[in-house]
Amino acid sequence: MNRKSNHVLVVGGGTAGSVLAARLSETAGLSVTLLEAGPDHDAYDSAVLDPVWASEAWTGGVAPVATTPMATQTGAIPMIQGRLLGGTSAVNGLATLRGLPSDYDAWAAAGLDGWGWDDVVSTFVAAERDLDFGGSAIHGATGPLPVRRWHRDELSRAHRAYYDGMVETGQPVVADINDPSQLPGIGVFPVTIDEKARRVTTSLAYLTPEVRARPNLEVRTSTEVATVAFDGRRAIGVTLTNGEELEADEVVVAAGTLWSPMLLLRAGIGPADQLAHHGIPTRADLPVGATMSDHLGPGILYGHDGPRGGIAGPAGVVLIGASNGTDVDYHAFPIASSPTDDETRFMMATFLMRSSGRGSVQLGETPEADPIVTAPPLPDDAPDRLRHAFDRLAAWERSAAARELGCEPVEPHDLTAPHAVSTALERLTLSYAHMTGTCPMGSVLDADCRVRGIDGLRVVDASVMPTIPSGNTYLGCVMVAERVAKKMTTVAGGSSGAKPSRGLRGG
Ligand SMILES: Cc1cc2nc3c(=O)[nH]c(=O)nc-3n(C[C@H](O)[C@H](O)[C@H](O)COP(=O)(O)OP(=O)(O)OC[C@H]3O[C@@H](n4cnc5c(N)ncnc54)[C@H](O)[C@@H]3O)c2cc1C
Repeated sequence: MNRKSNHVLVVGGGTAGSVLAARLSETAGLSVTLLEAGPDHDAYDSAVLDPVWASEAWTGGVAPVATTPMATQTGAIPMIQGRLLGGTSAVNGLATLRGLPSDYDAWAAAGLDGWGWDDVVSTFVAAERDLDFGGSAIHGATGPLPVRRWHRDELSRAHRAYYDGMVETGQPVVADINDPSQLPGIGVFPVTIDEKARRVTTSLAYLTPEVRARPNLEVRTSTEVATVAFDGRRAIGVTLTNGEELEADEVVVAAGTLWSPMLLLRAGIGPADQLAHHGIPTRADLPVGATMSDHLGPGILYGHDGPRGGIAGPAGVVLIGASNGTDVDYHAFPIASSPTDDETRFMMATFLMRSSGRGSVQLGETPEADPIVTAPPLPDDAPDRLRHAFDRLAAWERSAAARELGCEPVEPHDLTAPHAVSTALERLTLSYAHMTGTCPMGSVLDADCRVRGIDGLRVVDASVMPTIPSGNTYLGCVMVAERVAKKMTTVAGGSSGAKPSRGLRGG
């Protein structure tokens, strides 16, 4: 390949990588190549875009995924990441949450200038085209991502019974769970779907045909990066798994929480003792992979009278709870069955959203092997905090709406029993699949997501989050990518003539 000037290689065309490629290529002075291991949009099964099949998407039934086991206290859980253009935004549960102001203010308080709530909220607003609240002080009307809340008639029967029963038991109704001033309470998930209730991945929203036609953007799918290439401490390109070498002025790794740290570790950027164990010379001694966060908690099993009903994705309605009366610290929501499942079952997920425990991503037996992934430990106060959620759910079980659904607890049978919470934690703990923080700003990266001690290399995806937001993580990845792209294009001389990415409908 010919050497281009101001050439940026983006490794991974997933949630963050798609945003980066679109925004960077708005600057004509940059040339951008996006390298995605998985296939292009034409590989999307129609069910990828149909939210009701989201469970099939995330288990790999209708979309290419990579599955890696994560060791937890209760055994190994399969960790899934989308392996296609759009990445995990093509297989996730579509929930589109920002987290709380205090999450980002903690980043700024840790010394990461430009990442406090007042800095990032405008980026959340600019990224969205909120079909319900767009054009207000806290919601955008013109961004690439269409965001709306499920309509009542789109919800499954379990979702509707949950919402009605929670209202019946006195939980405050939250019209907009992305408005922190309204929390805690019961609300409908905002989701990234269009007016016709079709999933819109970040690649569909940002890498529109118009954007892909830019002369300074090349999107290469089915193209897997094997390693980052260096000249001393400067990243100078990548080598693909087919042996092809690509040069660049800057490499931006956006391969996701499990694979971005692996690319760094294989290149000698990581904990010196781990690298020495594998005979990899240390290029930079940094805690890569050492500080992984996630949201964890038990999935309570229920039976109900079928059928499922509705077209909403598995997560439709959520109780955002506060165990101490003020801080939002758990999500409790029914994951409705998929149409092919036994439609008389659903799972009530109860996830702790504030947790300081750290897991890890480490090299496997050989540097080429899949990573060894270990979940963060559950916090010591998990049983006390979840007691609050279990009490709310027990009250919901007694509501008229739950009884009308024919709702029957399967496991645990009695949420009020003295050991119900600890038994559920031991037997039923799940991951919300919000793995973050394996290449965090502050230790591995500076506040512009540049790898410390290395030139020409950034990481921009869920890995960079120094602490996990107390909301779902996909929208945070979009926000991070938008902000870093802006920093990079400002340095490169700003915009250019190319029309900004405006989303599927150009609106
Ligand atoms: C089942 C599931 C459900 C979820 N539900 C929600 C939800 O409802 N709401 C929410 O906010 N969050 C949800 N999440 C989490 C959220 O989707 C992720 O945090 C987010 O999408 C991660 O984005 P990313 O850019 O870090 O990585 P990804 O979107 O995973 O992108 C990484 C990309 O890099 C590519 N890649 C990897 N290695 C290479 C390589 N060597 N060469 C080239 N390309 C490579 C991959 O193929 C992939 O396309 C869910 C996650 C899962 C797994």
